[in-house]
Amino acid sequence: MRPIGTVDFTTSLRTERIDDETWVLPVPITHAQPKYTLSYVMRDARGDLHLIDTGVDTPENRQHLAGSLLALGGIEKVRSITATHGHADHLGLAGWVRELSGATIRLHLEDLPSKGDPGPRQQELSRTWGVPVARHQELADAARIADKQATTLTVDHHIANEASLEIPGRSLTVVRTPGHTSGHIALFDATHELLFTGDALLPHINPGFGLDAGVHNPFALDDLLSSLRELSAYDDAVACPGHEYRFLGIAERAQQIALHHLKRNGLVRSAWQQDPAIDVWRVAETLPWRVDLSSMPGGYLRSALVQTALHLEYVRMGNRAGSLQHRGRSTVPHDWVVASNEPRYAK
Ligand SMILES: [Zn+2]
Ligand SMILES: [Zn+2]
Repeated sequence: MRPIGTVDFTTSLRTERIDDETWVLPVPITHAQPKYTLSYVMRDARGDLHLIDTGVDTPENRQHLAGSLLALGGIEKVRSITATHGHADHLGLAGWVRELSGATIRLHLEDLPSKGDPGPRQQELSRTWGVPVARHQELADAARIADKQATTLTVDHHIANEASLEIPGRSLTVVRTPGHTSGHIALFDATHELLFTGDALLPHINPGFGLDAGVHNPFALDDLLSSLRELSAYDDAVACPGHEYRFLGIAERAQQIALHHLKRNGLVRSAWQQDPAIDVWRVAETLPWRVDLSSMPGGYLRSALVQTALHLEYVRMGNRAGSLQHRGRSTVPHDWVVASNEPRYAK
């Protein structure tokens, strides 16, 4: 893996030129990790602008984005905003940019907001998962916060099975990469050999999976592994991720991320083998986390438990091939994980 361009944008939030028609613009995330979202700006054949991902919607970020776009023609030049997925750090500012520019917002159909209040559903999950009662409210609130961003935003164009985005003079292929969320997409620019990976592939952070707002995707781990496999095919391209920095070495990094999750799956399997009745909370307690579960804030805790629950389901299902066929995705290569009780990565 080889970093390209600025590695740490926290020291300077300046826009960086990628080529004559493409720029990367860091947008800060305060009080959370990672420290910023990378928003990509493309100029089309007419001189209009198109954004891939935006950043969290705060007054400071509005000012920062508008100011940064000034040098590229101004925010009113933006014709489209494509979110790689529905998370607030990617979709966030899109609604505000649309207000000022009339731009179209694109998001994959499967990342549309869930209907209704996700709070009660989370309460039910917390009980099933064996979460201490004292944390139930915090988790329900976290589920609501995760859902809120998307529910207040109307999406103009739902990406479903499109092969490419319509941007004058630019060729952008849609690469379906479910896993992190069910509707996650990456975008490949063959002309400039750039792969916009959103949160499916980051250079240092291991992206989580199954982080849909409100809905539960039992196949998220399968999806993640298949998507990483899919992204490996773009090894010659420069990865332009949603956070951190651009890099070369897509296949190597995809393999590292797959191995990270498979290693954790092995730990969950061991815990389950020792006690087949173990619940999600107790499994989570056996796993290594950067912050101890007891002091983990609600949003992170929810993400940690969702992933633990998915690992446990995966282990209980025991047969990955079966789950893929169930979803009608039997064309996905199976050699990433052997459908036995010992998952392993095979390149
Ligand atoms: Zn995300
Ligand atoms: Zn993100």
